[in-house]
Amino acid sequence: MSTTVTAYAAPSATEPLVKTTIERRDVGAHDVLIDIKYAGICHSDIHTVRGEWGPQQFPLAPGHEIVGFVTEVGSEVTKHKVGDRVGVGCMVNSCGECANCQAGQEQYCLNGPTFTYGSVDRDGTITQGGYTTSVVVTENFVVNVPEGLALDVAAPLLCAGITTYSPLRHWGAGPGKKVAVVGMGGLGHMGVKIAHALGAEVTVLSRTLSKKDDGIALGADHYYATEDPETFTALAGQFDLILNTVSAPIDVDAYLNLLALDGALVNVGAPPEALSLHAFTLIGARRSFAGSNIGGIRETQEMLNFCAEHNLGSEIELISADQINEAYERVLASDVRYRFVIDTATMA
Ligand code: NAP
Ligand code: ZN
Repeated sequence: MSTTVTAYAAPSATEPLVKTTIERRDVGAHDVLIDIKYAGICHSDIHTVRGEWGPQQFPLAPGHEIVGFVTEVGSEVTKHKVGDRVGVGCMVNSCGECANCQAGQEQYCLNGPTFTYGSVDRDGTITQGGYTTSVVVTENFVVNVPEGLALDVAAPLLCAGITTYSPLRHWGAGPGKKVAVVGMGGLGHMGVKIAHALGAEVTVLSRTLSKKDDGIALGADHYYATEDPETFTALAGQFDLILNTVSAPIDVDAYLNLLALDGALVNVGAPPEALSLHAFTLIGARRSFAGSNIGGIRETQEMLNFCAEHNLGSEIELISADQINEAYERVLASDVRYRFVIDTATMA
């Protein structure tokens, strides 16, 4: 048994998203039914539905920055109750038993996490994401949105927030640390806000200076244009941590050269193309080149609490569902200030 709900989905990798319907399973003993109010648009949604990360089963409704209210809970549910303000991010399940799941790192589940859309679910169906009006999720993968955060600006935290918070914490961003954020988009602008709130000295590395005033207002101490070759000379050997959020390939060596001794360049940007580097750029200053995938459920809750405490919502542009395709084009043109969020009330 299931319920049919309105959704916006891609019919194929080459067609725009269209209004359609998807099925939601009945609420099981450990499930929570969420009435979705807002859903953010992540660049990963675009990579995925356009087949850039590999073939998909269509139709596919993307969306993994989901917030709303609990409207029903299963008989065994203890963590959430009807009326709670909740969120769902990039995962809706994992094996729960492997070492990584046990350590609260479900995003690195050794049996493969179940992603919010485009994944084979435990019942064999393909998961469908948040560009819709409701979702049924097992309670352990539902987090609470603290009262201090408005729901619309909280939505992007479920992916852009945790994807920047987790590596910033893991690599020790804080007082006395020089952190650079590459790319001032959805992830990048949250990276700036969070790194600043953690007490780090923050530099934005964007292609141009067109968003400089915004970057400084969001908490950056410095702002440089990467289109200017002088930037790479002026900043050589400066940073303890560089967080790369760019959705396209970058010149890895050029950024590694900006790291101080023992510095790390952490890649969260996920272009389909391979990235390459020269061993000597690492060897020359014991540098690291690393990656990071979203964050675990416990850490996602910690991030939401941190953002509520520091009043860190996302900068958003609220759109109606019929503007999704236009929003995709604007994301691809880097014309996003700084996250599109769909008001699902416009889906009816
Ligand atoms: P976004 O809003 O489009 O931001 C990406 C930024 O990258 C742009 O604002 C732009 O910044 C820069 N950029 C874009 N194209 C570029 C190019 N050709 N050359 C140089 N810079 C370019 O995207 P997002 O939603 O933040 O996502 C960013 C990337 O992270 C995507 O690849 C996404 O799939 C990935 N992602 C990874 C994870 C993870 O867990 N690792 C989670 C979510 C997303 P400037 O205009 O400032 O230069
Ligand atoms: Zn995302």
